[in-house]
Amino acid sequence: MTTPIEPITGRKYRLLIDGRWQDASTAETFERRNPADGSLVATCPLATREDVDLAIAAARRAFDGGVWPQTGAKERSGLLRATADALRRESDYLTRLLVSEVGKTVREASVEVHMTADVFDYYAGLALDLRGDAISDYVPDTLGLVLKEPVGVVGIITPWNYPLQLAAWKIAPALAVGCTIVIKPSQFTPASTYELGRILLEAGAPPGVVNVVTGKAAVVGERIAASEAVDKVSFTGSTETGRRIMQLAASNVKKISLELGGKSPNIVFADADLDAAVPNALIGVYVNAGQICQAGSRLLLDRKIHDDFLDRFLKFTAALRVGNPADPQTQMGPLVSEGQLERVASYVAAGKEEGAKLVRGGARLGGEPYDRGHFFEPTVFDEARSGMRIAQEEIFGPVLSVITFEDADEALRIANETMYGLAAAIWSKDIDKVMRLVRGIKAGSVWVNSYHGSRIPHMPFGGYKQSGIGRELGREGLEPFLETKSVQIKFA
Ligand code: NAD
Repeated sequence: MTTPIEPITGRKYRLLIDGRWQDASTAETFERRNPADGSLVATCPLATREDVDLAIAAARRAFDGGVWPQTGAKERSGLLRATADALRRESDYLTRLLVSEVGKTVREASVEVHMTADVFDYYAGLALDLRGDAISDYVPDTLGLVLKEPVGVVGIITPWNYPLQLAAWKIAPALAVGCTIVIKPSQFTPASTYELGRILLEAGAPPGVVNVVTGKAAVVGERIAASEAVDKVSFTGSTETGRRIMQLAASNVKKISLELGGKSPNIVFADADLDAAVPNALIGVYVNAGQICQAGSRLLLDRKIHDDFLDRFLKFTAALRVGNPADPQTQMGPLVSEGQLERVASYVAAGKEEGAKLVRGGARLGGEPYDRGHFFEPTVFDEARSGMRIAQEEIFGPVLSVITFEDADEALRIANETMYGLAAAIWSKDIDKVMRLVRGIKAGSVWVNSYHGSRIPHMPFGGYKQSGIGRELGREGLEPFLETKSVQIKFA
């Protein structure tokens, strides 16, 4: 396919509460505009605190009345399977929507839609295999049962960078075990979440089981996190907002899961296969225009290969096609918003000020087709040092910091030298060295001889240190939505 896809424009959405579509009580709305050209993608309700309470109450009724938790596992599995099928059936439309709403390239948007479907499929399977445990013979007159039960009403708060996929990581396991949900997407990506809500409703979610509310973070997000009628909050976003969610959730000692930021190292040793490592490092940092929590934004290079690697990397960077995300030839689209672009530009200024060497990019792109959007050049800083802000703080844009190391010990020290611990990659053919680093690195995901790895929904995802609390995906991804009940039955 070589002709540009048709962007989505002018959609209107309403809140999804208790199985019905309704306006915000004030009838106020906000707009989401296409980050590539400023065209209107969607108009969505600006929910009030009272609207959010209605959604929470609907989820409460659907849970407490047993509508969903007492539905059989086969029915719950069936809903998730039907959702996966519908996502695939509607993948062309949803791809166009993600391109228009987030600024993703056609390929990235399409991959996200299909990965979202895969996650629903995966949890449709696990819904049929939920288990507890039995302790039958520790003492002769007592049978111990360990029961797993749904935690209750789950408040879900998601970011804009992978709006469908990250919502699925939470919605699918929550529904699989019998929880009911209220979800609030980012103000930048309301449309894709409303479409997912519609698909779940059409797939058979009973009223109140899935509720979608949009509006200001300070109103809608804070109400979900603080409400005493919510049993658990599952949040993905920045570490700063995660800290705030923890405070708000303290009101009723809510269970919380947090998937937060990262500053992940991509470590390349001299014995690595550079033909594979160089292009993969490019994907590592520039996929989704660098707006990805796992971005390989710190490239740690063995001094022996530094010049050769960087030379090759810069050639690939120069060839990267940045532009209209609706054009299937484009490899990197715009940033999500003007604010995000300003944030990235401010980090470039900080990098220069701190003495890192800007060897590529560093500026906003202008002229056709860039003028109406938030486009930024793929950017590379060489001679970064570990303590610099560009090597410590999450930029969330297409900016790479290259740091040189002398040996494996130094690489490990630098890798762990941030407050984050989300992901890391190690490139080497020396299994002893690789295993030493695999063991030593404090990160929730480690890839060997690849960056970002393959898409396997069985692999748990989450962060060490300030990258989060808890894990999503895999069997582990069910646990945050479960309570454990110990039952002892004494008999004669
Ligand atoms: P953000 O923290 O600004 O917002 C995330 C969500 O929280 C949005 O829906 C937002 O409206 C809401 N929110 C903001 N303030 C709130 C408050 N006070 N109370 C309740 N809700 C509030 O993050 P973002 O800019 O949307 O996304 C980028 C961040 O997300 C990056 O830091 C990135 O690393 C992180 N992220 C993490 C993962 C992961 O799985 N670890 C995945 C993707 C993104």
